Amino acid sequence: MPYKIEQDYEKCIGCGSCTSVCAGNWEMKDDGKAHPVQEEVEEIGCNKEAEEICPVQCIKISPQK
Ligand code: SF4
Repeated sequence: MPYKIEQDYEKCIGCGSCTSVCAGNWEMKDDGKAHPVQEEVEEIGCNKEAEEICPVQCIKISPQK
């Protein structure tokens, strides 16, 4: 099932937790914030852990129909 990954970019504090648990789809950029590499993925994979670990809950993952 495909998933859509949304991030409330303004809320990101650049802690790097999401990149630690899901380096495959999250990377830190020069602006000091994390960004998803892909905003639509076929499998949720470690993005679920990224969503759960984010201390400011700025990652939201929703299944797509
Ligand atoms: S875990 Fe959340 S606050 Fe931390 S870098 Fe990732 S998106 Fe930003």
